[in-house]
Amino acid sequence: MLERVKDIASSFMLTELVKGLGLTGRHLFARKITVMYPEEKTPASPRMRGLHALRRYPNGEERCIACKLCEAVCPALAITIESDQRDDGTRRTTRYDIDLVKCIFCGFCEESCPVDSIVETRFIEYHGESRGDLLYTKPMLLAIGDRFEAQIAADRGEDAPFR
Ligand code: SF4
Ligand code: SF4
Repeated sequence: MLERVKDIASSFMLTELVKGLGLTGRHLFARKITVMYPEEKTPASPRMRGLHALRRYPNGEERCIACKLCEAVCPALAITIESDQRDDGTRRTTRYDIDLVKCIFCGFCEESCPVDSIVETRFIEYHGESRGDLLYTKPMLLAIGDRFEAQIAADRGEDAPFR
């Protein structure tokens, strides 16, 4: 009964409203923590799992040897690889697709690759307006690798904090 009386008195005295205004007032002059994206960006981890890329060696040769480990390990069945033997006897992919609609960004493909070919970059600013836009083909993945190679190499270098 006493609690009920307290509640009614509290309602008439607008104590909740005063408490709320006090909280608002305290935060009004506090340091703002909202990040004004995209002008401002939060720091990204070197292990961030963003958009995939296929890497090349410094001489321009693609790293991928078409072993298909990434395709086998992918839990979402997002990777499709076809391969053939080249004239020099080496095996290379003739098709390497990643369906980013299926991908769950688990990083298993990256972990399984014996030659550090397929990687996930820090790049997350991409989008698709239809399902087909998010099917990344081998030329697209190689182009992403070429574009971000400096960052990819730095993130995986000897001095990288997680090595
Ligand atoms: S990140 Fe995971 S789900 Fe996505 S392609 Fe790689 S293995 Fe498949
Ligand atoms: S990306 Fe790596 S794991 Fe996948 S097929 Fe090529 S070499 Fe093998």
